[in-house]
Amino acid sequence: MNSQDCIFCKIINKEISAKIIKENNTVIVIEDIFPKAPVHYLVIPKKHIVNLSTITSLDKELVWHMIEIIKELANDLPDPKAFNTLSNNGKEAGQSVFHMHWHFISGRNIVEGEF
Ligand code: 5GP
Ligand code: ZN
Repeated sequence: MNSQDCIFCKIINKEISAKIIKENNTVIVIEDIFPKAPVHYLVIPKKHIVNLSTITSLDKELVWHMIEIIKELANDLPDPKAFNTLSNNGKEAGQSVFHMHWHFISGRNIVEGEF
């Protein structure tokens, strides 16, 4: 799939709507359309990268921007500010949208429960 057919690129380009939680020049955070926890966001770089297997050292800064925005999301949580980040890489690992993203999950223990 190229970036023209990519649902996250369409959300980034505002061609389809999503609930936007945060956005800057590099990263957008949206609410997952099918939330699996009380807080379930998707942290998505605006650059179309398929997944962590295809990322290069040129994207170092982009990764830091993703971490920074995750820290902001964490700060906005009520105490105890506990959360999980999860990235599925490859179809067999559960990736269904082939534009890199990290799930940001809070309010549900995904280690002890099913996710
Ligand atoms: P993956 O399965 O690739 O790890 O995660 C993709 C996530 O994107 C899924 O949790 C799915 O619910 C979410 N998703 C798929 N399509 C859309 C959409 O059009 N809008 C939003 N907000 N989330 C979507
Ligand atoms: Zn894309």
